[in-house]
This record gives sequence, structure tokens and C-alpha cells, in this order.
Amino acid sequence: MSPSPTEKLSQLSIESMPPTTRQQSRSQKSQSSTESEANSVDSRQVDNCLRFPSKLTYSLENLNPDIRQHVTDAVEGLPQITLQECAEREGHVIFQVSELANFRIRTGSRSSQWSTPSCSCGDESPSRTPCRHVLWLFDQITAQLLDNSGEVLTLNKYGYANVLENPYEMITECHLDILADDLHSRVLRTASDTEDALYNARRVQEVREILASLNRTPIDEYRPDIFDHPTGGRRVVKRNDLECTIFRMLCQNNEFFQYFLSSMKSDELVNNTFRKLQKRADAALAGLDAYAESPSSRQPSDNPKDVTWCATHLQAVVKKVHTAIMRARRPLELWERQAAGRTLLHILRQVVDRCRDLTPPTLENVDRNLYLKLIGDRDRNFAIGALNSLAPDAIHPFTAELDRIIFDMQKHGVPHSYAEKLRDVYERARRVRMGGSPIGSKRHRARQGGRGGKRTR
Ligand SMILES: [Zn+2]
Repeated sequence: MSPSPTEKLSQLSIESMPPTTRQQSRSQKSQSSTESEANSVDSRQVDNCLRFPSKLTYSLENLNPDIRQHVTDAVEGLPQITLQECAEREGHVIFQVSELANFRIRTGSRSSQWSTPSCSCGDESPSRTPCRHVLWLFDQITAQLLDNSGEVLTLNKYGYANVLENPYEMITECHLDILADDLHSRVLRTASDTEDALYNARRVQEVREILASLNRTPIDEYRPDIFDHPTGGRRVVKRNDLECTIFRMLCQNNEFFQYFLSSMKSDELVNNTFRKLQKRADAALAGLDAYAESPSSRQPSDNPKDVTWCATHLQAVVKKVHTAIMRARRPLELWERQAAGRTLLHILRQVVDRCRDLTPPTLENVDRNLYLKLIGDRDRNFAIGALNSLAPDAIHPFTAELDRIIFDMQKHGVPHSYAEKLRDVYERARRVRMGGSPIGSKRHRARQGGRGGKRTR
């Protein structure tokens, strides 16, 4: 059997990996057949055997050289193949197989070798047409990087939307770790940290949310024995503990994780657009906090996670929240509206709590202080459009918090017009009577009270 995806992951060394996936099977066959046709004909004829995945060895002597080469190449490059199903038909049987192949797509700066995206599937017949992997990947990336409210994007001949201009620059400006989180992917820094990457904090947390949601248990109370100090190395099966076994599978196997995620209905925890956006905001804030704490480790050439960078991310998140509210395909349920409200209020709170001037003092004040940058300096309408696009019942559970936020803003100094707009949001939300309105139906309240409240904080 060829290696599992996680075994392949462990072999992954971004620097040293050859451009195709065949190294995995290379060790399975005799050394001589990897040499070039010209100088190894004799040794190949003597030693012209090939070991197949089942570990049976076949002699290729009876094949003509073309077919022999073809078979060798095919078995060398075998991806993971799964037999999906079979069927009996009139006079024949059918087997359906599918293959899981790994490809690497590189995209780089304008001056690099990869100024346009290049996929390893085309390494042997380099053509400039974008392959399906590039089309798929850049579609995923674009959906994360852009706020799209239905505009049609123009695809260029390299396989990505023109608006990305240079994808590498867009990705590095966003920072790969932030993008990777949104794509449920791990970032490998060196070949040796793959073990840690299996249990990276974001994945562990997502798995906890999935399993807690299935168990209807508050996240923090769900299996602390597994989640407080996640370990397990590469072992997957834990005897007498199915939940722990599934936890390890979900951490280690990307296909299984995606399958699980796509099979689950949206709820407060899982596949919740607004919660996901809140996590992106938190990742940007964590980046800024790390930047603030270690001025010495900053390198001027990097794209730093500074106030401007963080503010750009928060504005993008707020815009995406607004777009998700406005462009929802069906009316949002109460828990979804409240998730949107919670995310917006959370961001406001985090910004208000970051009213301090960071270094370096050479920057303008407004570029050193997140609160000033988004709210305090002048009325930029930050988050107002998104808040106003929500029905007041979405903000209702958070009126006390909104009141405190406005109070804290007034301590720091806030443009009068901006405070007025927030006060309007507050007043509308405060006046909602949840029990009487058709929106706050019993079903919704039961759901919120029974499952939502505590866990989603
Ligand atoms: Zn490809």
C-alpha cells in the first residue's frame, strides 16, 4: 500500500521534495532502473524486476521497451488508489477506482522562478495552461482574500482572478498563517515540525468544536483529558476510546476532516460563517499583540503584523460580515443574526481594549494605536454599516456590552457622530421584546438556551 496522506505529510520537506510524487515508490524498485536508458540497458535486463504495491515482484522481460518504460513509470508514480465499488453486469464486472494524488503548486514574487502559479502535475510536460489544481486552489484563496458581493471576476490565462494581481504579494500581505487558518490547512515551517503540525492549536480547537457540537456539550467541558494537552504522536487508534480515536483521525487526516466538516449541518459552532470570521479577527489581533510584545524581533523587511496590517484585516472581516448578512440566500435564522452581532461586538470590544501607542515612535500616532486607527481619530463609520444591516434582535443579547463599549470609547475619546450612531444601534436593540416578536419564537429561544448560550462565547 502506498503511504497514507499523513505519512506523506511526514515526508514533506518543502525545500528538498522533488517535483513529482514518485519518490514514495522509488524505494520499492531496483536501483538500476532509475538510471538513464543509455547506460543501464544491461543491468536492467538482468535485474528487470519491479515490485508492485502488494509487494509481489514482476519480471518485465517479456515486455517491449516502450511498454516496459510505461509500466515502470506508472508503478513508480502510483498515487494512493482506492477501490470505491464494484458491480456485476451482463458478461462483465466493473471496478470503480479513484486516486488521491498530491501536487505542489508554487507561486512567487515577480522576480522569482514562479512569478505565475505552477503546479507539479505539469512538471513533465510544461505548458502554460492552468491545470485544474491551480484553478481550484486560487478559487479557494480568492474567496478568502476578497470580499465579493456577487461581482463577476475576470479569470486570466494563468488560472486566477485578475484582481489578485500578484497572488504571492496578496498572500504575503495577508500572511500565510492567517490564510492557512481560513483554509483549514497547516503551515509547515520546517520538515521536522510535522509532528507538532498534526496537533496544531487551530485544528485541535476546530475538532473539539465539532465533537462538542455532536455531543451537545459546552466546548470547554468536552473531554478536557483529550483536548487540554493533545498528544498521541502518529498513533491513531486509542483502544476503548472511540472519541479519542476520531479526534486523532480528524487531526491527522485532512480528507477525513473535510469530509466530516462538509457532512455537518451549520450550527452555532460548526460551519458558522460569522464565527469563522471572528476567528480570523482574533488571529489578526493575536498577530498584533505578538508584534506589540516583541519589538526587538521585528525585521523591517517583513510585512509586519502592525497596527495598519491588523486594522486592514479587521476592516476586511467587518466587510465580509456585512456582505454575508446582505447576500444570504435565505433569511438568516436568529442564531445566525446573533452570531453576526456577537462577532461585530467582539471586534469593537477588542479594538476599544487596544487604545495604546505602540513603537516605533517614528510612525504617526494613528498608525501606532489600533483604537485611533479605526475609531478614535475620526469618524470612519467602522462597523456601523454592518451593525445597521442587522435586525435589532441580533444585538439585543449584547446591549449591556454595547453600553460598556460606548462608555469605554468616551473615556478614550470618540468622535461625537460615531458615538451617536452606536447609541442608535443600542437604543433600537434595547427596545426589542424578544418574547413578543415573531422573530424570537419559542423554537429559537429553546435552541439558544438549550445549546447555544454557554458554548458559543
Ligand atoms: Zn496541477
